[in-house]
Amino acid sequence: MNQPPAIHQLGEDVVNRIAAGEVVERPASAVKELVENALDAGAKRVEVTIADGGRTLIRVVDDGWGIAPDDLALALARHATSKIDGSDLLNIHTFGFRGEALASLGAVGRMTLTSRRAGADGAQIAVSGGAQSPVRPAALTQGTVVELRDLFFATPARLKFLRTDRAEAQAVGDVIRRLAMAEPFVAFTLRDASGGDDRQVFRVDAESGDLFDALHGRLAAILGRDFAENAVKIDAEREGFHLTGYAALPTYSRGAAVAQYLFVNNRPVRDKLLIGALKGAYADLLSRDRHPAAALFISCDPQLVDVNVHPAKSEVRFRDPALVRGLLVTAVRHALLQSGHRASTTVAD
Ligand code: ADP
Ligand code: MG
Repeated sequence: MNQPPAIHQLGEDVVNRIAAGEVVERPASAVKELVENALDAGAKRVEVTIADGGRTLIRVVDDGWGIAPDDLALALARHATSKIDGSDLLNIHTFGFRGEALASLGAVGRMTLTSRRAGADGAQIAVSGGAQSPVRPAALTQGTVVELRDLFFATPARLKFLRTDRAEAQAVGDVIRRLAMAEPFVAFTLRDASGGDDRQVFRVDAESGDLFDALHGRLAAILGRDFAENAVKIDAEREGFHLTGYAALPTYSRGAAVAQYLFVNNRPVRDKLLIGALKGAYADLLSRDRHPAAALFISCDPQLVDVNVHPAKSEVRFRDPALVRGLLVTAVRHALLQSGHRASTTVAD
């Protein structure tokens, strides 16, 4: 008879690779983590370059507050973060908080992290398949550059699950567009350096004005003038939940649910409850095969929503789902009807 296997503690590199599978599913999830880090660091400009759908290269350059040379190694460690101290997990105001992204990316790819704080010298650290090199001096202006090459070289099984470069690049673009909607005062660019090229794929300049002006400008830049000109402003509040954004008139509806952008405390989410509520708001204003277009932001005290449901963090759980649903349905419906577009006139094409 076989001996039952003995229990043993896994090594840190293996643990990190396993964890990476949770956090980094594909190039777009790596880009999401890196851009969120840039935004958490107060960046006003974020530049992303990818090559081959992000498989061979992802580079994110930001002008945020940077990382001190002495902290570079720590930033790469698992469960090391500057964003929470663990005393209040219900009160999170940043995109990140798990301290897992850089450790995970360094475990499954070849990464260099180069950074400079105001008033300090620049420094760089490299990590490849979990193995770190010593910190060395580097020249750059204030901010951070993360360069990630050969994503998943250390986990070949994961590489096989990637889709075509085109599909991966599209997913990267989608992530950046969503984050760009959430941060209209920040400038974003996406470049594609496949095959030695350097092609600009996407660029939005920082918007100005009040939040609604800025958002309107940003939505026009990303979703098109047509959306912006056919969208009504949403601004409503109920019991600590604030709903803002723009919802397109029923006449601007789409044949597929492709233009529905939902955010909770500025975090892009794909949430069944909210998508269902949006549908409900247009219920008798649209025929069954048409889909509303909208960019809506729910903000509330972090205590009223749990964003801690999944590492990829696109799911959320509200303390009072019915209240949120009711707010969205009522506010959007009200705004649409106010704008004079009634069911009878708008069940178009
Ligand atoms: P988390 O974002 O959950 O804290 P990460 O692994 O993504 O974990 O990052 C670890 C830490 O490294 C962050 O808490 C932050 O202090 C620092 N860091 C990462 N990226 C940046 C950046 N672009 N600018 C400044 N600091 C950064
Ligand atoms: Mg992070």
